[in-house]
Parts: sequence; C-alpha cells; structure tokens
Amino acid sequence: MDALITLCHTHPALFYCLVFTVSLMVGSFLNVVIYRLPIMMERSWQQEYQSYFEVENTDAASNTANSINGAASSSSHEHATFNLIKPDSTCPSCGHKIRAWENIPVVSYMLLKGKCAGCKAPISIRYPMVELFTALVCTFTAFQFGPTPQALWAILFTFILVALLFIDLDKMLLPDQLTLPLMWVGLLLSTQSVFVNTTDAILGAAFGYLSLWSVYWLFKLATGKEGMGYGDFKLLAALGAFTGWQGLPVIILLSSFVGAVAGIAIMFLQNKGKSLAIPFGPYLAVAGWLTLLFKDQIISTYLDAVL
Ligand SMILES: [Zn+2]
Repeated sequence: MDALITLCHTHPALFYCLVFTVSLMVGSFLNVVIYRLPIMMERSWQQEYQSYFEVENTDAASNTANSINGAASSSSHEHATFNLIKPDSTCPSCGHKIRAWENIPVVSYMLLKGKCAGCKAPISIRYPMVELFTALVCTFTAFQFGPTPQALWAILFTFILVALLFIDLDKMLLPDQLTLPLMWVGLLLSTQSVFVNTTDAILGAAFGYLSLWSVYWLFKLATGKEGMGYGDFKLLAALGAFTGWQGLPVIILLSSFVGAVAGIAIMFLQNKGKSLAIPFGPYLAVAGWLTLLFKDQIISTYLDAVL
C-alpha cells in the first residue's frame, strides 16, 4: 500500500488512471444503488405500514384488511431477498442472468451493442452514461486535489452525490441511508481537519439543516405548499459538514442559479408550464460538489469583484 502511494506521488498520471478505472467500476455499482435503494425503501415502508395496521386493526376491520390483503397479495413474493447484492442482475425483458463479462463498465455495453445477450432487448444508454459520468467527475476531483488523502475523501463524497443526484431525479427522494452517513463522514473528517475544522463543520451541518428548514416553513406558512422535502435539509447539512458554514452561502447561491437556469430550460424544452415539479436535490448536489472543489476560488473571485 505504501509502495502504491509513493508510486502515485512520483507518477501522478498513474494515480489519475487508477481513479478513472476504479470510478468506472464504482459507477457500475452506483447504477445498482440508484435502481435498487428506492425499491428497498418502498418495500420496507410497505412492510411497516402492513405490520402497523395488523397490530391496530386485528379484528376491528376484517373487511378493510381483505382489501389491503388484496392489494398486498400481488406483492407477497417481494419478501424474497432484495438488497444491493442479491439477487443477481438480470435482463428485465427475458430474465437472462448478467454474466461477469457482460458487466464490465462501458466496455460490455459497446461489445453487446447496447442489447441484451439473451433476447437482444435494448439496454438503456443511461447505465454506461452513469458509469462514464462518475469516472469523469471523480478524475476531475482527483485533478483538483492531486494525489492526496483529501482527494480520496472528496471522491467518496462525489460517489454519494452521484447516487443522490440520480435517485432524486428518478424518484424525488433523498434517502437517509445516503444523506446521514455523508454528514457523519464530513463531521468525522473535520476532527482531522481534512477539509475544514470541527467548529466550521458542526456549524455548517447545523446551519445547513436550519436554513432550508426555515425556508420550508416560511414558504409553507405563506403559500400552504411544500416547496421541498426533509431530504433537502439533510443533504445541505451533509454538504455543510464538508464545506464548513462558509460554504453554505456559496452552495445556496449556486444551486438557486443552476436551478433557475435548468428550470427555465426544462420549461421551454418540455413546454409543460409552471407547475412542473423539479426536485431541488440535484442542484444542491451539483452546487455542493462545486463548492467543495472551488470554495476558495469562488469566494476570492466574489470578494475581488465586490471590493
Ligand atoms: Zn434479455
């Protein structure tokens, strides 16, 4: 391991190649997380809901229980093991089991020409794109920090943000299973001052949560609508733990800016009008990532412009 670290210092190009390759493989795993984690969450909610009503209405409502059972029976097979590891990935059209050589990031997609080896059903271009996207943003992160321990933690940060970004786009969800560990990692790293010191990280997490929480309640009291979800508060708390409280105004400004531009673009492209619901999480994730990488440059550029 020490030999590898020394080698990475003397040959930075090797470090970047290593980051690119490993990130491609992690990107492949992130595809699984993005697809399966929301399903796992929905199933555990369903189970909680069912066990709650079984306890509450043991005999009171056998009629409604029947209708609930009717709805649930279709999903009774879902008690089979389903997590990030099991069952093995299969083709959704024909059930063909994905073999190891068909699971090489990007390469397999090209070898298979984007089609299932069993039934030739098209495979979504989304999978290799997520892998490539992960590899590119992580290599860029590595460039920014150079071959340092900081780079490795920043890459872990990037992995989790990629998963959150796509899950929120797909499902309008920011799972606690990702946002909360991200926040704890940020706080723990601050004890070693990896990115910021502990005081800045704790204030960043607390004010990150509270700032969006306040906006949420002000917006709700004023309009009666919910503009964002609790996942957004937790995500900003996690980002604040990494960037420190100083990063929060940068993240909020950047995400509002990116959100406004993307929102207008989507409105024009889709022509769906104003009531289109757009999750806020992806903008926070992009802004948080940019802030961790460029906080000092952004703040000094801003101050130069103002002063
Ligand atoms: Zn197939």
